[in-house]
Amino acid sequence: MNASPVATPAADARPASRPTIGVLALQGDVREHVAALAHCGAEPVLVRRPEELAAVDGLVIPGGESTAISNLLVAFDLLEPLRARLRAGMPAYGSCAGMILLASEVLDTRPDAEHLSGIDMTVRRNAFGRQVDSFEVDLDFDGVEGGPVRAVFIRAPWVERAGDDVQVLATVPSGPFAGRIVAVRQGAVVATAFHPEVTGDLRVHGLFVDIVRGA
Ligand code: GLN
Repeated sequence: MNASPVATPAADARPASRPTIGVLALQGDVREHVAALAHCGAEPVLVRRPEELAAVDGLVIPGGESTAISNLLVAFDLLEPLRARLRAGMPAYGSCAGMILLASEVLDTRPDAEHLSGIDMTVRRNAFGRQVDSFEVDLDFDGVEGGPVRAVFIRAPWVERAGDDVQVLATVPSGPFAGRIVAVRQGAVVATAFHPEVTGDLRVHGLFVDIVRGA
């Protein structure tokens, strides 16, 4: 062992690293994710081109309209590069439309819509139906400390099948949709059916930034 006379700080006393996290900026609520990531100690960058995707440590796929984002992924030559980075283990977090895009199978979407297969799951688009276009509920969220997470659902999907390697992080606690899976994780890829970026509660983004730091 090298006995150094200079005291080195313990690993946990060092400032946390500042990973570069992209926000897919083709359509949807991009700005809210940029702000949330910056608050959580990441360096957020917008991703619209393959070179920008290649430079990030992780990627957020925002809410919006999954079929529109799918079309734009093709038009911007991002679909195959994004699939390749996910296969290679890039951490990713998808919210709402982002959850739909990360699925390996999507129900009730357009036949030409693409998806990324970042998580082994079947997702039903617009699953909660028209009469409950939007609603809010408090969720117990596995891996998030400090009490329930207020979840805002906006024409949200749910996870109809989660594969064996997929960890269920949150389900709807009560009401007509009790038990429906609305947050999942497989490896370094996380997806929520709801929009944590609109509540000011940054704990889900904090969880994702920690996943990127650990990757
Ligand atoms: N219903 C939208 C879709 O199909 C998702 C809604 C959202 O992201 N808030 O993509």
